Amino acid sequence: MLKDFKPLKTYFIENRIALILGLSSLLFVDFLQLFIPRIIKNSIDALTTGQATSMLLLKYALIIVGIAITMAIFRYIWRYLVFGHSRKVEEALRNRIYGHLQTLSLSFYWRTKTGDLMARAVNDIDAVRMATGMGLVALTDGVVLGLATIGFMLYIDIRLTLISLIPTPFIVYFTLIITRRIGRKFRRVQQTFSEVTESVREALAGIRVIKAYNRQSWDYDRVKEKGETYISDNLDLARTLAIFFPMMTLFTNLGLAIVIWIGGRLTILGNITTGDFVAFISYLNLLTWPLMALGWVTNLIQRASASMRRINGILDEVPEIINQPNNPFKGVIRGEIEVKNVTFYYPKEKDPALKHIDLTIEAGQTVAIVGRVGSGKSTLLQTIPRLMETEKGMVQIDGIPIHDIDLKNLRGSIGFVTQETHIFSDTILNNIIFGRHGISKDLIRNALEVSQLIVDIDSFPKGIHTLLGERGITLSGGQRQRLTIARALISNPPILILDDALSQVDTSTEAIILKSILEMRHGKTNIIVSHRLSTIRRADIIYVLKAGRLVEGGDHTALLTAQKEYTRLYERQQLSEELGGE
Ligand code: ADP
Ligand code: MG
Repeated sequence: MLKDFKPLKTYFIENRIALILGLSSLLFVDFLQLFIPRIIKNSIDALTTGQATSMLLLKYALIIVGIAITMAIFRYIWRYLVFGHSRKVEEALRNRIYGHLQTLSLSFYWRTKTGDLMARAVNDIDAVRMATGMGLVALTDGVVLGLATIGFMLYIDIRLTLISLIPTPFIVYFTLIITRRIGRKFRRVQQTFSEVTESVREALAGIRVIKAYNRQSWDYDRVKEKGETYISDNLDLARTLAIFFPMMTLFTNLGLAIVIWIGGRLTILGNITTGDFVAFISYLNLLTWPLMALGWVTNLIQRASASMRRINGILDEVPEIINQPNNPFKGVIRGEIEVKNVTFYYPKEKDPALKHIDLTIEAGQTVAIVGRVGSGKSTLLQTIPRLMETEKGMVQIDGIPIHDIDLKNLRGSIGFVTQETHIFSDTILNNIIFGRHGISKDLIRNALEVSQLIVDIDSFPKGIHTLLGERGITLSGGQRQRLTIARALISNPPILILDDALSQVDTSTEAIILKSILEMRHGKTNIIVSHRLSTIRRADIIYVLKAGRLVEGGDHTALLTAQKEYTRLYERQQLSEELGGE
């Protein structure tokens, strides 16, 4: 089990000073706590033997006040330091997981559900935080305070101690069982709470559709049902919690009954003083927490080690696509691309998505790739920046196999606009700059002009500083696509790939954008996937894919004369454009 926690070792070492100070303060508080019954004993004994003076009692009272204040201060210190440590572990672990996730290849994300990753990032890290904070405290208290309390009790009377400890194993065991159950129910409540939130969010986001279809009552019931589950889960948790404390009090009182019965007799017989008798009862009460702590900590550690195993599962995941270790090419890329006999299988698929593809794109050429939906266009394009690794065949850029090109250099030299336009909740400007440094105002302006985004930006309340996303405005599909094009243009890369990047922009705007892209990128390589004839026709070469195979290549006129797949696609497209009135 300790092996599971090994990744945490460095954080414990880093925080060692805070940890040592924190745990020492905790032990000091424990020690002070044990001292109070001694003072009670002394004052009661002084009272029963008639030696008490008001000065003596005042002295004891002041000592107790002093202890109470010191305990308060040191309790504050240990809480701050130990819980602070657990928060630092949490943060470091989260950053480490996220940092590692970024290195993992797309294939990892195909086989891992986002929900599972989220659960690990939230629940599992939380379980580890609990164990490294509260768990550490409970362990220290359970062992040190528990043993010390028993020690003080033994010092008063051995027989009485042994008898009064009879109910204690039940307290440990019962806490273990109940905290486990509470934990399970608590997680269930959290889960249903997020379901309630999600259903309300969905209902609000879809309010237009709901109203248009008059489905208010259907949606109302859906939300209501989730709300009911949430309440019943909460009640279930409350019932378990309701058992816990009364049962604890019951066990403690059983111990108390034993002590009063047997301990009272010992007092009458004069074996122990009245003060010892009262002090003993105080120690017995003090013992409840360490016993509960032992049960609880077992549970906290078990849960955390299960969580650590899942987290280690991610951390042990090796990135499939990594940089070439021996002197990868870091020079300037011109933009000649050769795809050599590339075959690609998606994991677990029996048919390849790409079959023996061979093609050459010269530096400075504009190439169009066409083919029906599912013919493999996007798959092919993703092999170029090594978003996906080809098993057979290879891609070369400027005659260098892409495996030998520095991964940062490779991806930095390719502007890739995918079909999915991902916009971050940030300003338009930050979405375009995308964290890159040293981008001049001129380049930004130019990218905005070429992508025709400049026209829209003036109509936004804060221009280029307008917030997008959840807390900002929502862009239309076409606007999103133009924004992602500006994002790619801004670094003026030697290779630009537009994968169906203008599908939601109207034809005339697409034509304008494309014209200015080609002007701006004179002498650079462009690869464009599009369904629009006006776009395709501009290309120097058109490659046609069909079911993962390259079936034709050439310029527009040559392909039309060939009367093959391209002609069929062309005629269909022409028909749909005529019907669409474009
Ligand atoms: P296109 O871009 O030409 O429409 P794609 O390259 O997206 O085609 O897809 C080519 C083939 O690969 C299709 O049959 C598609 O179903 C399949 N495919 C695409 N992505 C995945 C994936 N992540 N896992 C399995 N199969 C996929
Ligand atoms: Mg595609």
